[in-house]
Formats: sequence, structure tokens, C-alpha cells
Amino acid sequence: MKPNTGTQGNGARVIASYGRHYLIETDEGHRWMAHPRGKKMVAVCGDRVQWSASGDAAVIESVLPRRNCLLRRDAVRTKVFAANIDQILLLVAAEPDFSEEQLARVLIAAEAEQIPAVIAVNKRDLGPAHAKAMARLAPYPQMGYTLLGFSLQGPEAGELDSIRSLLTEKATLVLGPSGAGKSSLINRLVPHAQAETQEISQALNSGKHTTTRTTWYWLDRARNSAVIDSPGFQEFGLQHIEALALASLMPDLRRHIGHCRFHNCTHLHEPDCAVIAAVGAPGPEGIAPQRYRIYQTLFAECSKAREYARGGR
Ligand code: GDP
Ligand code: ZN
Repeated sequence: MKPNTGTQGNGARVIASYGRHYLIETDEGHRWMAHPRGKKMVAVCGDRVQWSASGDAAVIESVLPRRNCLLRRDAVRTKVFAANIDQILLLVAAEPDFSEEQLARVLIAAEAEQIPAVIAVNKRDLGPAHAKAMARLAPYPQMGYTLLGFSLQGPEAGELDSIRSLLTEKATLVLGPSGAGKSSLINRLVPHAQAETQEISQALNSGKHTTTRTTWYWLDRARNSAVIDSPGFQEFGLQHIEALALASLMPDLRRHIGHCRFHNCTHLHEPDCAVIAAVGAPGPEGIAPQRYRIYQTLFAECSKAREYARGGR
């Protein structure tokens, strides 16, 4: 991670960041500590950047246009935390129990950015609890999401082929509620992850041990396969989404919206609403009642966020 002062570079990628300190990796594979050129410049993990050498560090000259980006909100504001993602791996487990609303948030944000999502259910060794979680998620493959079960412990612990094959030639953002097994999975997939994380946080935070937030790990650099480890499943931001666009970002609702009487139907109370008519209907065309409740909750949240945004004008 020593800066290579001899090289004046062009293309690089942000691998990790801590505040205004960045670790970038050039297309030739050299890693540099870097600072952004201007106060307003914000780069995030996955960003493609242009850089130049400056003394013993590098300077990020510009952030190239993002193919997509994902947002997170903290107590005060919404921020981008990852960019240029090919796929999201949503990790849940037989236990602890997970919130389908949290799952929906991530899937909606992914739809909005046209990022495919895979749902993986860990801890198959727990038997009935795993079967129950899989059954609960049965509507999701009908919505177009890949659903798979696996295990990091027990008799099938070594069999990660189904997951590995999904990760080739892609940059996959791994997300999941705490306890689902995200660190265990990443450590299994990337044996050098722990050592690398330590090295990165020390470099970024001048010696102190900290957990960097979002970090890029290569699985196979030659084939462009990488996983991006990120916390913040709870704070997934949907503030940028228009309430009226929400139904079009939920595939089970989306297939009905063209049949509502009103083109600007909110699907909450209008007469002849095809979405409301499909709630609880049998078969693959039906909308599961819990999914519709999630829609109602998120609709209220997105409307409020927009009002707030307008009020603060
Ligand atoms: P994270 O919070 O998502 O990073 O989850 P961890 O990787 O820390 O795992 C949470 C707990 O689940 C740990 O105690 C792991 O040992 C356990 N765990 C991980 N994978 C499995 C599994 O396949 N089966 C069982 N039974 N436990 C697992
Ligand atoms: Zn409607």
C-alpha cells in the first residue's frame, strides 16, 4: 500500500474510505492512499476515479459518472455509500428472524437502480427453521429474484458452489441483517479478508483499529469478480424514491398497475384498483398481504420524505 510516486495514473477504483481518506487501486493493481482534489468531491466504494500522484499520496482528480449508486441514511442525512454495482446478494438466515420490510427496502432500491438481486438463506443446518424461512420467501422467485439456500456450518458447510458461481465476473454488494452470517461468508469466500481489512483500516485511520465501512475485496481480479462488504442494512435509504413510483419498483405490484382505472392510482383507496383487487388472490398473480402492507408503509414514508424535501426548499 506504499504510494508509488513514479506513476502518474489515469483509471483507478475506490476500494475503501474513511472520512476524507481513500484507498484507491489503479487499473495496474497498485494501491494508493488518496485525498479528493476539492472539498465538495465525494467518492464512494466502487467509484471509478481519475487520479494523479502528489508527493507520497495520490489525489483523486475526478469521480467518473456512476452507472448506479446506493444510498444510506443516518440521523441527519442521506449519503451514497456504494457505486457501480453489478448485483446485490441479500443474505438472511434461518435465524435470527429477519424483517421482510427491510428486505423490500433493499430490493426496491436495487430495482430503482436496475441492479439484479439474489436472496440467499444461510444456516440450512438448522433444518425446520431454514425450511420455514425458505417457505416465507417462496413468492420472491416469482417476482424474478433468485432464491437459494445454503449453509456455512454443518454437513454442507463446504458447498458454496451455488454462491460462488453467482459471483463470477461481477461486483456483488453483500448486505444482510446482523447475525445472518455475512462476516462468516466473506471470510470463507475471501480468505485474506480479515488481514486486508486490518491493513486497510490502519492505513486509512493512521494506525488506529477501526472497521472501515464499505470495502471492496477481489475474489478473482483477472475475471473481475469482487464482493463488496457493507454494513447498514437497517439504514437503507429510499428517500430519493417517489411514492408514486414505488409500485413500479415492486414486481408483484408492477404487473397489475397498468390495469387500474386511474393512471395516477396510488393503489391505496381508489375504485377499480387492480393492485388492491390482487391482494390475497390465489396463484402467482396474487399479491401476498404482507407485501401490500409493506407497500402501504413505504408509500407513507416516501410521501413524507418528499414533503419534507419540498418544505426545506
Ligand atoms: P454477521 O453478523 O452477518 O456478520 O454474522 P456472523 O458471520 O458473525 O455470524 C453470526 C453467527 O451465526 C455466528 O455465531 C456464526 O457462527 C453463526 N453462523 C454462521 N453461519 C452459520 C450456519 O451456516 N449455521 C449455523 N448454525 N450458524 C451459522
Ligand atoms: Zn391501483
